[in-house]
Amino acid sequence: MRRIKLKDNPMKFPLARPDITDKEIQYVTEVLRTPYLSLGPKHREFEAAFARYLGRLYAVAVSSGTAGLHLAIRALSIKEEDEVITTPFSFVASSNAILFERAKPIFVDIDPRTLNVDSQEIVKFIESFCVFDGKVLKNKKTKATVKAILPVHVFGHPCEMDRIMDIAEIYNLTIIEDACEAIGAEYKTASAKYQMLKGRKVGTFGNLAVFAFYPNKQITTGEGGMVVTDDEELAELIKSLRNQGRGNNSLLLEHIRLGYNYRMDELSAALGLAQLERIEEMLKKRERVAHTYNSLLHEIDEVELPYVASNVKMSWFVYVIRVKDKINRDILMRFLLENGVECRPYFTPIHLQPFYKEMFGFKEGHFPIAESASKRTLALPFYNNLKKEDITFIVEKLKEGLLKSKV
Ligand SMILES: *Cc1c(COP(=O)(O)O)cnc(C)c1O
Repeated sequence: MRRIKLKDNPMKFPLARPDITDKEIQYVTEVLRTPYLSLGPKHREFEAAFARYLGRLYAVAVSSGTAGLHLAIRALSIKEEDEVITTPFSFVASSNAILFERAKPIFVDIDPRTLNVDSQEIVKFIESFCVFDGKVLKNKKTKATVKAILPVHVFGHPCEMDRIMDIAEIYNLTIIEDACEAIGAEYKTASAKYQMLKGRKVGTFGNLAVFAFYPNKQITTGEGGMVVTDDEELAELIKSLRNQGRGNNSLLLEHIRLGYNYRMDELSAALGLAQLERIEEMLKKRERVAHTYNSLLHEIDEVELPYVASNVKMSWFVYVIRVKDKINRDILMRFLLENGVECRPYFTPIHLQPFYKEMFGFKEGHFPIAESASKRTLALPFYNNLKKEDITFIVEKLKEGLLKSKV
């Protein structure tokens, strides 16, 4: 993208902005008065609070969402010669984590409404290209073992988890949920079989699920992430892997496996605790901002509003509109940027990222639904305290921009 020279006030309305109150400042300051800046009580408190909030048995705090995804892949022994089914329409980290262990992402196309991985496409891939011997799913062409499905709850909209869980059960696959954009989102399943999952939060469906707390997410720790599971063995393994591969006896400096430093420090954990205590308030504020945008935009012909399926509770991560075909999105984007309204195309599909194209030979046309969505999406400024008059201003600029970007 071309660098934009800004008029006077650079980015009057940024894309995202954290919501920090005295509570956060107090919690972080308290840590600074203790000798424990890492490996202290706060990250354990944050983990316990997080597990309780979600309704899962174990939560392991890590240094980023990406680190969490990497540990999830590693802990499941997904490695070279293994494949993981995932979506091309995501932030690059969800697929990179697979590459870190030299395994291969298998992309399948997305649902044009939700922008999440299309479960029908997963089935199509399996039925067309794989054999299942009752235990192991093999890709006939590459001879690789397909080990897992990694669905991403894109923009905070839950994936069709009942269908995905059915597929995983039939073909003995593990599920790693990338819930980095979806804390607090709920999936109300349609199928009778999963009625017990009704209203359960995302991050409670997969064998493992990963959250992220980068400053643009719904809650932040600065940098940070969380891996959750109900499997004690996996939780212990991930705790060891995040801390240099240490054994259980913390008195001995004994490293029983290759590990990493993916720990979350105490300052970040304290910040996370304060944010988590405010989560209901924050998610409500975000919903209010989204609804205000909806009410101001719904009459504009050239704009498609974010889709929310009737069986989900969305957790608003970003506010992403789609412009209709007769609009040149990039001209619109430049106009908004020049007027201090930060905006971004979310996302460039992963398979079209330069290094993926080079590594795997992906080309335009391979995943047409993801590609066509990505050409039309535009994320607008979106944060808890965005006021109605600010949204009105942004929408006015958007209308002006639309007039200038008709093709
Ligand atoms: C933010 C995000 C991540 C990674 O989180 P970091 O904390 O920035 O490493 C992974 N996947 C998705 C879909 C994300 O949006």
